[in-house]
Amino acid sequence: GRSVHQIQSGQVIVDLCSVAKELVENALDAGATSIEVRFKNNGLDAIEVQDNGAGISPADYDTIALKHYTSKLSTYDDLTSLQTFGFRGEALSSLCALSKFHIVTAQAADGAKGTKLEFEVSGKLKGTSVVAAKQGTTVVVETLFNNLPVRRKELEKNIKREYNKVLHLLNAYACISTGVKISVSNQVQKGKKTVVFATNHNPNTKENIANIYGTKTLLALIPLNLKFEMDPSNRPGATQSARNWSTQDDGSKEIKIVGHVSRPVVGEGRQTPDRQMFFVNSRPCNMPQLAKAFNEVYKPYNLTQSPFIFADLKLDTNAYDVNVSPDKRTILLHDQTALLENLKTALGDLFAGHDQ
Ligand code: ADP
Ligand code: MG
Repeated sequence: GRSVHQIQSGQVIVDLCSVAKELVENALDAGATSIEVRFKNNGLDAIEVQDNGAGISPADYDTIALKHYTSKLSTYDDLTSLQTFGFRGEALSSLCALSKFHIVTAQAADGAKGTKLEFEVSGKLKGTSVVAAKQGTTVVVETLFNNLPVRRKELEKNIKREYNKVLHLLNAYACISTGVKISVSNQVQKGKKTVVFATNHNPNTKENIANIYGTKTLLALIPLNLKFEMDPSNRPGATQSARNWSTQDDGSKEIKIVGHVSRPVVGEGRQTPDRQMFFVNSRPCNMPQLAKAFNEVYKPYNLTQSPFIFADLKLDTNAYDVNVSPDKRTILLHDQTALLENLKTALGDLFAGHDQ
């Protein structure tokens, strides 16, 4: 029979995308400057994420994959950011229950020696062995959902779509992560490993975009640099906590949107990639209402193509909820209605100023 743990582990790991999201965020949290994501057979056989981050301390080997264990609490003094991004210690624990799973990790002091960690389905450490490894951590997830036949079948059936979705998500991480080299490869069956895309240690997001979509793409883009002063106390039905938010220090009322967007008129050599990515405080998020606002304002300029959008919303962590979806990728802005109105006006001005 299946344990309760296996069934409840559906919370953070629901698909290929959530595996990639959790592992890449762990690598970034570990201070990695280089991250390699390797798919085997589009992710059906394996997803491996290798980083050159701090590695895992031997003191943590026993506990890292236990449910609700996290080593990150003490490093974040701001409780708010804890709640919003949910350092809940569930990813590794879920992966033990949902796949064949192991980790190889090495810290700076370990020389070329690493430790392979294997776990029980419950997340309990099963055993360790010494292997060759560079500093950092490699997490290997094989045959995702191997012990949940229905979900495994679904994954197999939808793998093309799932694989494209996960590449889009990884594009977003690679675009936003300045100073971090991110490469993604795929090996289909016994075939050769192909590099899907790779960024360098770029100082800015423009170069990341050029690495992924080609240098010419930059010709098609104009900078986004918008700033809105929000007043949540005016919002109908504003809750007490929202009013409190408005009385906090200055920065909290401000929403900035920075990034890049297609020129309103696409000329020769200015093809725009068909891609729209949104971030909240640099974390990739689904923001369908914002996408709709951009598309609406852009439409009169270009009836055939929707714009490339790379938009990072900078706002106080009290100004939104992220726990509306289990995978934390859909978020709810408290001031969404007001923001959308302001955004449309600002985009109208921006496009009008570049209408040539
Ligand atoms: P959380 O990220 O919420 O802490 P996870 O289940 O994702 O929970 O990870 C559990 C713990 O495992 C982390 O707190 C961290 O100590 C360790 N860990 C996971 N991945 C890595 C990594 N790539 N490098 C270093 N430590 C890691
Ligand atoms: Mg994590």
